[in-house]
Parts: sequence; C-alpha cells; structure tokens
Amino acid sequence: MRVPLTTRDFLDRAELVYGDRIGIVDEPTQPAAPLGELTYREVARRGRAIAAGLDALGVGEGERVAVVSHNSARLLELLYAVPSFGRVLVPINFRLSPAEFAYIAEHSGASVLLADPEVEQQLAGIEVKHRFLLGEEYESGLLRFDAEPRPWTEPDEDATATINYTSGTTARPKGVQMTHRNIWVNATTFGMHMQVSDRDVYLHTLPMFHCNGWGLPYTSAGLGVRQVPIRKIDGAEILRRVEQHGVTLMAGAPAVWNAVLDAAADWDGPVPGRDQVRIVVAGAPPPSRTIARVEEELGWEFNQIYGLTETAPLLTINRPRAEYDQLSPEDRAKALSRAGVPALGTRMTVSESGEVLAQGNTVLAGYWENPGASAEALDGGWFHTGDGGTIDEGGYLTISDRKKDVIITGGENVSSIEVEDAVFSHPAVAEVAVIGVPDEKWGEMVTALVVLSEGQSVTEAELIAHTRERIAGYKAPKRVEFREAIPRTATGKIQKFKLRQAFWTDQGRQVN
Ligand code: AMP
Repeated sequence: MRVPLTTRDFLDRAELVYGDRIGIVDEPTQPAAPLGELTYREVARRGRAIAAGLDALGVGEGERVAVVSHNSARLLELLYAVPSFGRVLVPINFRLSPAEFAYIAEHSGASVLLADPEVEQQLAGIEVKHRFLLGEEYESGLLRFDAEPRPWTEPDEDATATINYTSGTTARPKGVQMTHRNIWVNATTFGMHMQVSDRDVYLHTLPMFHCNGWGLPYTSAGLGVRQVPIRKIDGAEILRRVEQHGVTLMAGAPAVWNAVLDAAADWDGPVPGRDQVRIVVAGAPPPSRTIARVEEELGWEFNQIYGLTETAPLLTINRPRAEYDQLSPEDRAKALSRAGVPALGTRMTVSESGEVLAQGNTVLAGYWENPGASAEALDGGWFHTGDGGTIDEGGYLTISDRKKDVIITGGENVSSIEVEDAVFSHPAVAEVAVIGVPDEKWGEMVTALVVLSEGQSVTEAELIAHTRERIAGYKAPKRVEFREAIPRTATGKIQKFKLRQAFWTDQGRQVN
C-alpha cells in the first residue's frame, strides 16, 4: 500500500491523539491579539477554517500564500493549514527590505499576502489579490468556521508544500521548493534522532520562516509536543520561558546560545532546565568553547546538526553518544564540535574539490522557476551544498570552509555580492569586497573592504547608513575598512580567501 506522505498527517495525528492537550501557547507580546492557549483540537479546527477561507476567496490548489511574520501561533497554524489543503506556503523573512519583499511576492506569484502588523508599511507597495493583517483582519476576514474546507483533490507527496527563499551567491534570493515528502521525512527522522516525545515542550527560538523552523513544527504536532513561540531572541527571556513552561527542547544558531550564556551569568539562582533541556545547534559551526559552556554552565544537552534550507534541513546529526560519557569535558566538546554523521537515509560524500555533497529524501525538488540553478545544484545526482568539509574515519563530517561567499551573521544568511552591490552604489566607492569576519557575538560580522575613488571621501558611518537604506539592516556592514587596493586574479576576480586570511589566521578553519 502506498499512502501519500503529506503535512496533513501531522495535524491529523495531533488532533486525533492529543486533541485535548494544549498544543500551542501563543506569544503574549505581539501587535496582533494573542491567541492564548490552543488545544491541538483547536489548532486543527482553525486550520480547517483557514482552508475554508481560502476556498471562499477562490484560492486554488497549488496557489501560493505568502506570509511575513515573527514567530506566533498564527504563523505556526499556517505552516499546517496552507499545505495540508493543497496550497503552497511562502514564509518570508520579516527582516527583509521592501524591495526584497516585493521581489519574493512577485517571483513566487503569491495571490494571498498575510502580514504581521509590524511589517505592514514595508509591504504597502506590493500588488496582490488578497491581503490580511494577522490579527483581527485575518480572524474575521479569512477564517471561515461556518464551512467545511474542500479536501485536497489528489494529495501528492511530491507536490510543493512550501517555498522558502534563501540568499545564495547571487544577489537575487532563490525559492527552495520543499515537497510534502521532503518535510515528512525530515520531521520524522529529526524526531527519531532527537527522541522527541509527548513529554517534550518545544520553545521556538528559531525563526519559523527559516526553513519552516527546521521542520520541527511538524515533528512537534505529530508527536503531541507543546509548542511555545517566542517573538524575539533575548537570552534572559529565553531562560524565563524555559522556567515558566518547563521547556525541554530548543533549536538555534550558535549566536542564540551565546546570548543565553550571557544572560545565565546574571541569572538569580540555579539556571532552569538543568538535565532537562536538549538544544539542537546549526546554521554555523559552533565554537567548542560555546559547547563546553552550554554543557557545564547550563547543564543542557548539546546536539549539533548540519543542513541547509535546500535539505529541509537535516543532513547530519551529532548527538552525545554513549561513548562520549567517558571523555573529558574538553574532548567531549571537541567531539561535539563536528557537524555529525548522516541522518538515517542520508548519504554524504566530499567531492574531489572538497565540496560536501548529499543524497537523501530531504533534498529539494528544485528552485522555483529557476531550472538553471536546480540543474547546477543537483548535478550528477548529488546535491551540491557549496560547503567545504572533510569526513573522518568514523563517518563524522566537519565543515571547514565555505565554497560560496555567503556570510552567516546571527544565524541568517547574507549574500556578500548583494551587500557589495549596495555599498558600491555610493558614488565615493571605487571598489568593494564584503567578507565575514569572526565575531563572538554574530558568529561572523559583515565587513566591507573599500577602495575610495580618487579625490573622494566618505566616513565609515556614512557608508553604513547609505547601505542600510538599500538592504535589510542585518545585512549591512557593521564595519568598514578603507584600503589602497583589493587584490584580484588575472581574470579580474576578487580573491576573497586572501582577504579573509588576515582575519582568520588564528582560527584554524575558514568559518568560525
Ligand atoms: P540555510 O540554508 O540558511 O539554513 O544555511 C545553510 C548553511 O549554513 C550551510 O550551507 C552551511 O554553510 C551553514 N551551516 C549549517 N549548519 C552548519 C553546521 N552545523 N556547521 C557549519 N555550518 C553550518
């Protein structure tokens, strides 16, 4: 027998098995009226009301529904409701600039746009058939509790469930097409490897737009986990929520855990969650000092995964295995600093040029409306990660270098080319190269190396302000260094590895 694997399975099981259980505790501090505590029965009922509302608007199967929002119960329910009834959800990074929002809305061909009140202004210029502000407008304008939704005519596990836009090496973001099957396999494999159960309470420290919150919203619903969205990353607030809700599971980039460690130093009394919390870290290589501090100062279990938006994301996992119990804290942190071994059903290898390649059921179907990029990424039957790495004798992958010039700052991807474009638009700039420089707080700090045009002058602050007007604030350089020249190859290409070398010499590898 073959039953299609779709996102609907997670919502249906949550309702059937855990209907009476509080499934979501909404974020209390948000501009849209918070939904409070929702049972999984209520989440499923609201999901059907969203689908019935889309039916009433005439939004057909396969049409795109875009949403721009901070973490909230409403964003979470959309992750279930939109794909489960045959439409495609496009969750967009709320930190982007108006031009970037417009590009994604247009490129994805979204017919519905849903937005957090905080980003309303930035979306004003976008032309779209239907738009609702999350909150009252969405509750009364979209949700239809008086009608049963039309079921998805022919549920297909290979249909696109979500399109997640990611900043790649080109200035234009690419839309990663995640199929229902990709999401299903990621969610169940992730749940198995992390031993997720209905005793868990999951705090969403990861932005849900980012790779659908790594697929953990699906794992959580299917297994009856209580979910607590959090709107902003603040170390002390994370600790308070861990205490308040009895949180046992979280995920995020290394920068999140550095913020928690800082807050823990000022925390009054024992840090909550000792020997209860497991964290999953990815997005950038965590420094081993962070790993040791998480385990010692917080008493939280440290797990690392490696993957990309293109891979749903789970590719490798490094859980503290039984053998690690014998290791000294230092050796244990070292062991845990590797990206990990392939998750069940995933195959990993390293190409001759040192690029990490992957095969598995979490690998994307392709990039939306971009056959060239899809063919390149999947060339030879392997997914090309763009990351450099090595695999040791035990099968453990270590990420050592990045083939592409994406900078990862505070867990978010920034295309250096895009930043260069914005800096270069200032008339005083003759040449610019943007690189990531190791930084305690951000992981990598966006740094611009600039050569000025003859007779021109501009200050660091002016140039940063100029850039911030053009691209999202987190992408703008935090530092500008003026140079006499920028070394280039014979064919005129900037040699970024040479520029980075000066900053990375004592780091051992070319990512922090
Ligand atoms: P994204 O598509 O935004 O999730 O970013 C994916 C990229 O993050 C990968 O290509 C890697 O460069 C980086 N990354 C993710 N996880 C890890 C990890 N555990 N160690 C090192 N880099 C990572």
